[in-house]
Amino acid sequence: MVPFSDSEVAGSSTQRIKVHIHCRQCGETFILRGARTGKGRVETGFKRCICNNEDDFDIEPLA
Ligand SMILES: [Zn+2]
Repeated sequence: MVPFSDSEVAGSSTQRIKVHIHCRQCGETFILRGARTGKGRVETGFKRCICNNEDDFDIEPLA
């Protein structure tokens, strides 16, 4: 069993990438897999940092 299903988002024009997320509040970093959507946004499913920060991040695609 895998915790995430890739096939659910593997539709249309999404592109699988790795994303580096840096929390500006506490400095924690996360490497997640995401999907590039339209308009240059990256959807990772990432909700919040361990410090409860929900929207103050540097998000940088790795690929
Ligand atoms: Zn944080």
